Amino acid sequence: MSNPIDMAQAFDQLNLEQGLQAQKARAAATRRPTAVGHCLSPDCDAPAFDNPQRLFCGPACERDYSRHKPH
Ligand SMILES: [Zn+2]
Repeated sequence: MSNPIDMAQAFDQLNLEQGLQAQKARAAATRRPTAVGHCLSPDCDAPAFDNPQRLFCGPACERDYSRHKPH
């Protein structure tokens, strides 16, 4: 019969692997949109950003963008 501590460790290992897989799946599903130099929100007419890597003016625009994003 297996030692209960070994079983607990095996179980922890399994949880860890499943957690990593879930993390990878989430990362693949939520890829960052491409920065275009200005706010990606369709409702926003803010001028172009100084930082070309910037995606949104702020969290409100990011929310607008994800609401409009086709699925
Ligand atoms: Zn904006």
